[in-house]
Amino acid sequence: MTLSLYDTYTRSLREFEPLNPPEVGLYTCGPTVYNYAHIGNMRTYIFGDLLKRALVLNGYKVKHVMNITDVGHLVSDGDQGEDKMELSARRTGKSAWELAEFYTAAFKEDMARLNITEPTIWCRATEHIREQIEMVQCIETNGYTYRTGDGIYFDTSKLDDYGYLARLDVEGLRAGARVAVGEKRNPTDFALWKFSPEDQQRQMEWDSPWGVGFPGWHIECSAMSAKYLGSYFDIHCGGEDHINVHHTNEIAQTQACYGTRLANFWLHAYFLNVDSGRMGKSAGNFLRVQELIDRGYDPLAYRYLCLGAHYRSHLTFSWDALDAATTGLDRLRELVYGWGVPGQISEEWMDTFTAFVNEDLNIARATAVAWELTRSDLSDADKKATMLKFDEVLGLRLGEWAPAAVPVEMVELAERREAARKAKQWAEADALRDQITEAGYEVRDTPEGPVVRKLE
Ligand code: AMP
Ligand code: ZN
Repeated sequence: MTLSLYDTYTRSLREFEPLNPPEVGLYTCGPTVYNYAHIGNMRTYIFGDLLKRALVLNGYKVKHVMNITDVGHLVSDGDQGEDKMELSARRTGKSAWELAEFYTAAFKEDMARLNITEPTIWCRATEHIREQIEMVQCIETNGYTYRTGDGIYFDTSKLDDYGYLARLDVEGLRAGARVAVGEKRNPTDFALWKFSPEDQQRQMEWDSPWGVGFPGWHIECSAMSAKYLGSYFDIHCGGEDHINVHHTNEIAQTQACYGTRLANFWLHAYFLNVDSGRMGKSAGNFLRVQELIDRGYDPLAYRYLCLGAHYRSHLTFSWDALDAATTGLDRLRELVYGWGVPGQISEEWMDTFTAFVNEDLNIARATAVAWELTRSDLSDADKKATMLKFDEVLGLRLGEWAPAAVPVEMVELAERREAARKAKQWAEADALRDQITEAGYEVRDTPEGPVVRKLE
């Protein structure tokens, strides 16, 4: 069975073949750590995780690299405005370094809560300044740069196919650029290295051949991915907003330096929306994983919700949808728990499941197969083994779930009730059941006998 993936670069579904099988190099653009990540950001990382798990299902060995952007991401994509980290530091009175530490830890905690596996390699922009400077030097040597009063810029007009990834109308943009582009030669040009402002002391700055300053945002991903995965690797992914600027510029830099388009496949996850539009850190309409927990939800119910929408379609968040996801996940967990000890994996069911996963990650349909499995005529033991294998992709931790422990007194009451029922002492049996309910538990009669559980 072959995996096909939608590649934004060619705008087509392509069969995936690793460049150096069985290894697969995967790079995911990581968070900018000036604030908490929201559940929209996390949808994109859940997508990256599903992709990685799908690659593993296909027998590949994935080397996954994720960066932490702790410098250089400016408030505006047009290289204007302040660095998000420095701005946040000024607002909070904390140092940019402390903030980066704090929000990186918070991000990793959210990943763990959503069962997103950690990358093989984490890399921080501030720990790779030398590599970024070297790459800018390479681009400079090849003749693609110029200097302005505030930095070293990439001259996008020097590349014939600049903007191909995004199918940018470069000529149209140039003609339509009514606002002054400052000292930039073309509206699409971008900073590779910015000089520290003269009137302001930056917390994060470094020496360079061009003067004291800091790297532009895009160069970190080109430099670090090339360092760890090579200058042409298998898959690069991120959110849909990265197509027009960030990934377009990553490709331009790599073309100028190494003559490659950096990755064989470019994959993009669509946004999580709320009624008012896109969920965004700056829009202020965002929800964090912690807020879901505070409202009594299991973060994995959010993961389950994300499984229901294809990564190339928008998903609108609502509490009703999260409630429905919670019910579905709870039901699945109870079923899997009730199936007891795992038996044999069914190859036939695995093939059906894998076929959907391999259709450009049709995880929603693959999840539907998981539900069909629950209703199939396989033995409970084989259902369990097969479902746990599915869960290596779905990542719902189905095998780890167990009903909350029930106190002995409740079990004793249930046993007395069962004895009363068998003796046809109905009034006594009902009274015992009421006692159990009043204590916040319920007793359910199943084919295997009565089961006591805590009421939600
Ligand atoms: P940032 O930390 O802002 O650099 O964003 C981290 C990742 O989240 C990037 O891949 C973005 O494309 C992605 N992202 C931002 N907003 C959303 C959203 N509303 N839904 C899904 N992904 C998003
Ligand atoms: Zn990036």
